[in-house]
Amino acid sequence: MTEQQLLGPQEIRELAATLGIRPTKTLGQNFVIDPNTIRRIVAAANIDPNETVLEVGPGLGSLTLGILDAAARMVAVEIDPPLAEQLPHTVAKFRPGSEDRIDVVLNDAMQVTELPVTPTALVANLPYNVAVPVLIHLFSQFDSIAHALVMVQDEVADRLAAKPGSKIYGVPSVKANWFCEVSKAGVIGTNVFWPAPKIKSGLVAFTRRPDPLSDVPRQLVFEIVDAAFAQRRKTLRAALGPWTGSTARAGKILEAAGIDPSLRGEKLDIHDFVKIAEAYRDHFAEPDSGEVQPFDAVRGE
Ligand code: SAM
Repeated sequence: MTEQQLLGPQEIRELAATLGIRPTKTLGQNFVIDPNTIRRIVAAANIDPNETVLEVGPGLGSLTLGILDAAARMVAVEIDPPLAEQLPHTVAKFRPGSEDRIDVVLNDAMQVTELPVTPTALVANLPYNVAVPVLIHLFSQFDSIAHALVMVQDEVADRLAAKPGSKIYGVPSVKANWFCEVSKAGVIGTNVFWPAPKIKSGLVAFTRRPDPLSDVPRQLVFEIVDAAFAQRRKTLRAALGPWTGSTARAGKILEAAGIDPSLRGEKLDIHDFVKIAEAYRDHFAEPDSGEVQPFDAVRGE
């Protein structure tokens, strides 16, 4: 099959001029102007030809055309009205006949709860300032997303893929791990974007866990993760004190979970956080309220 045209600097400039677009920092608008980078992202995304791909922030359509060439269908969620409006015209011009393989949704990716199709993959050059909350929202909202490949700030890519014990391991790493196995998939320089950002970008690959880690509510696990890293220099016993009501109670929950209360949160993997949530649910929470039962009442002390 002959390779189809992707958008380069000239096409991006022309599109932006036609629309009178000036990229805004607030919306994280750095458009890819390099076809090789698009090929790299699409190759790293491992898209099966039968798949339906969700793209967040299609912008002027650089990545969109690459995804359309690899997937059966796609849905693109864009927050900026002129960009969302233009996208079907760009597809019609550069991929005539493919217009009915893409739905464009004008919405904030952090708010979207329904899509016109069921995505099996997420592929995106994410708006950098909201990359992590967008990812968490989409993985929790759409169970059908079995894998993802995203471009984010390189530092955020490293954080997402970090392992317990490293300095950069933190809330994004653990939360992403609740849903997926995560790995870094490359580094991208600054000059493939217009406008060029100051810092490098990184690619991150996600593979959804075949089964949920636990039937404990995700929200409970995430509360514990937030509490543990809100004071990451403290021991877990101290850091979880405000969440449980006292350090003594935090210590008992950690012991019930089989986790050493003198460890710091940065040593724990997602399985450990799940154990804490399960211990809390099984021994310390009111059956229906989700509240911590006063510890004295639980132990009769
Ligand atoms: N995919 C294009 C590319 O690679 O050239 C553009 C990527 S640019 C880094 C991020 C895009 O996300 C912009 O088009 C921006 O308008 C859009 N965006 C920003 N915040 C968004 C949000 N909350 N929901 C959906 N799209 C958003």
